[in-house]
Amino acid sequence: MAFFQFDPWIEELSKKALGKVRGQWQKIEDTAEYNQQKVLWAFQKNRVSETHFTPTTGYGYNDRGREVLDQVFADIFECEDALVRHFFISGTHALCAALFGLLRPGETLLSVTGKPYDTLDGVIGLSGEKGMGSLKEYGVGYRQVDLQEGKIDFDGIEKNLDDTVRVVFIQRSKGYDGTRPSLSCEEIGKICAFVKKRRPGCFCVVDNCYGEFVEKTEPTGHGADIVVGSLIKNPGGGLAQSGAYVAGTKKAVELISYRLTAPGIGKECGASLGQNRMMFQGLFLAPHTVGQSLKTAVFCAAVYEELGFFVSPGPLESRADIIQSIRFNDPEKLVAFCQGIQRGAPVDSYVEPVPWDMPGYAHPVIMAAGAFVQGSSIELSADGPMHEPYVAYMQGGLTFESGKTGVLASVQRMREKGLL
Ligand SMILES: *Cc1c(COP(=O)(O)O)cnc(C)c1O
Repeated sequence: MAFFQFDPWIEELSKKALGKVRGQWQKIEDTAEYNQQKVLWAFQKNRVSETHFTPTTGYGYNDRGREVLDQVFADIFECEDALVRHFFISGTHALCAALFGLLRPGETLLSVTGKPYDTLDGVIGLSGEKGMGSLKEYGVGYRQVDLQEGKIDFDGIEKNLDDTVRVVFIQRSKGYDGTRPSLSCEEIGKICAFVKKRRPGCFCVVDNCYGEFVEKTEPTGHGADIVVGSLIKNPGGGLAQSGAYVAGTKKAVELISYRLTAPGIGKECGASLGQNRMMFQGLFLAPHTVGQSLKTAVFCAAVYEELGFFVSPGPLESRADIIQSIRFNDPEKLVAFCQGIQRGAPVDSYVEPVPWDMPGYAHPVIMAAGAFVQGSSIELSADGPMHEPYVAYMQGGLTFESGKTGVLASVQRMREKGLL
């Protein structure tokens, strides 16, 4: 295996790391198998058939594939309805449609997991120019309750749950926030129960990005009204070419559908243009693919912990998403790490990533992505905002074999630059 010419000490490091985490494999494979059967069951229950892959054009009326795919998602997410669309341009777009669909002027959005993901700043009105039509400009208020030492602040939620609050927002994954843990579905369930007891009319909305199929259940199985996620992350299985989904109660999904298309039209239109097959097939592959990226993340944690860096989660800790963070405390190490991950990619491996000002993000960001689908982060990818403490967030890996190679290539790159 001289294709990558890893130093012998890197091969040794790899063996040692792998030995440490072998025990995790059983749990990952068990969850993948459970979720695979759930997905298969949902396909069969809804009688998925070849005719559902037939493209529609124009208005896209009576697109059976689209309707069945929505129902398959709803069954997998243990809820009533879903909107699975290739024409959601990203997760942010779907989250935006969800918030605008559920909130009205004078009402309040209450985030209970601290500040939401950076790309929602413009949607909420926390940043950006006036005149873009943020929720704030439409008279929707915003408050947040920060986590207290990584834990949900139930007293803080209680204090903020006045009768203007219509949406309680929960972010499952830590995203770019290295100071908080990701939440398990059980913890999300506790928040939903707490909120519903006090304000039954509130919608509990979960940003589910990176969490799908990591556990045996989803937040909608624990009382969330709506989950939202991207199809170029976990549930697209690496095959969906673009898109996002919203799943939840019939009422909430309907309200959101009016914002996605138009009031009065909702779910009835939207040509699938031949994207259905890839969305179905990607969903079918997703439990396995998520398992592969979990193995890659666990392996990465073991390797970098062995090298003396702080990693979160630790290699033996339980996980609620596919993100692995590594704290480098050094801009050069962060950059070298991302460059190494890029070198392990099947596409654009010869490109050397550098930090850039990415739209929607507050700081320059370095990103490594050599993906078949642009920006796909179920494919092996890494990124890090260029500020203290210089944390890299690595995720994805369509196969563990390729993900592992990428991780080893990152060690090699850091070594080459004299940083290890
Ligand atoms: C990826 C992600 C989003 C949405 O990002 P897009 O790039 O717009 O798909 C939102 N929240 C979290 C936590 C994410 O990881």
